[in-house]
Amino acid sequence: MKISMVSEHASPLATLGGVDAGGQNVHVAALAEALARHDVDVTVHTRRDDPDLPRQVELGHGVRVDHVRAGPAHYVGKDALLPYMDDFADDLHQQWRRDRPDVVHAHFWMSGLAAVRAARPLGVPVVLTLHALGVVKRRHQGRKDTSPPDRIALEQRLVSDVGHIVATCTDEAFELVRMGAPRRRISVVPCGVDLSFFRPDGPADEPGPGRARLLFVGRLVERKGVGNVVSALAKVPDAELVVAGGPDPADLDVDAEVGRLRALAAQEGVADRVRFLGRVEHHRLPELYRSADVVTCVPWYEPFGIVPLEAMACGVPVVASAVGGLVDTVVEGGTGLHVPARSPERLAEALGDLLADPGWCRELGNRGARRVRELFSWDRVGGLTLNVYRRILAGQSVRTRRPSLPAGV
Ligand code: UDP
Repeated sequence: MKISMVSEHASPLATLGGVDAGGQNVHVAALAEALARHDVDVTVHTRRDDPDLPRQVELGHGVRVDHVRAGPAHYVGKDALLPYMDDFADDLHQQWRRDRPDVVHAHFWMSGLAAVRAARPLGVPVVLTLHALGVVKRRHQGRKDTSPPDRIALEQRLVSDVGHIVATCTDEAFELVRMGAPRRRISVVPCGVDLSFFRPDGPADEPGPGRARLLFVGRLVERKGVGNVVSALAKVPDAELVVAGGPDPADLDVDAEVGRLRALAAQEGVADRVRFLGRVEHHRLPELYRSADVVTCVPWYEPFGIVPLEAMACGVPVVASAVGGLVDTVVEGGTGLHVPARSPERLAEALGDLLADPGWCRELGNRGARRVRELFSWDRVGGLTLNVYRRILAGQSVRTRRPSLPAGV
């Protein structure tokens, strides 16, 4: 089977942790590789954002990355990419006319627009994974949402129109139905995690002496809720907070979001217990996760959230806000605790309860590692995704049962 993935801003080759490079990049790269292990031939089309990039790069056996010329050959924030999507689509259409894929799998709404425009005249089915929904973003970020003004309307039309949608969690499926997407055209397949790499055994960084370690990993954007963890720390004595993500470590002192969070830490009287690492190379993360007593993941909203899977895979309990994908992945009292988003008080209570009981933390961590191994390997996710493609090609209804995510382990 030949699959074309479209991921206009999120290249599988990007460095992770910056403002626009996170879970989608990981998802696209790992899914492509997992499909290749199922003998699928995969091309990932992403925007050429550097003049030195060759047209095609081999990512590994059976996967190549194709750099599409659309817009300037330098970084452009994803919220400014819409004007280039027609050129992106035209390039794809020309390629697919010469070499027709069996299925196109678009990632993110703008890729969806380009994919539908390029594939429809050729009769190639398009599957869409949105990774985030404009309507949810607007609900939580209000005027801070920098998406193009037309996003919600365009996305709404797209979800009613596209051949099939693979949502990554139950909450997203509900949102899609609310937006008018036909239920029979939605499947739920979660993201996965690299289990050969994120595992409980192996070396761990040294935590600070005599202090429990709380860890945040992710892009340093306000909605990820790091500010709430900093505020909660004031009520969690004897703990340090390590923050991985954001700018290059050399730029920590000039980064606006780090500046805001440092000021908040000073105001809360916890500045000496918060450490910003800046962007940490992905391959360094397992050691960091294993050094943590608890990983905190308390965004205001979260389309899926790969970080809790990585933490659980390393055997660390997660305190997560009860939003989006985190409701499916973290099991309350099973692999971690849920707290309401934007509530430093409830977060501090949960952290205090966990840190007071190391045996409980270990138990939650072990169960997390088991749950992730059972449900979230990329091989399993690749297999489920391949089933969706096969059923589309066979002309069958693709509706899956509710995501096969048991409530506990
Ligand atoms: N990440 C990383 N280095 C960093 C910060 C984040 O490699 O300094 C990775 C992290 O391990 C995870 C991804 O970026 O794989 C973030 O994915 P998630 O789905 O949690 O959040 P998103 O960025 O999609 O909002």
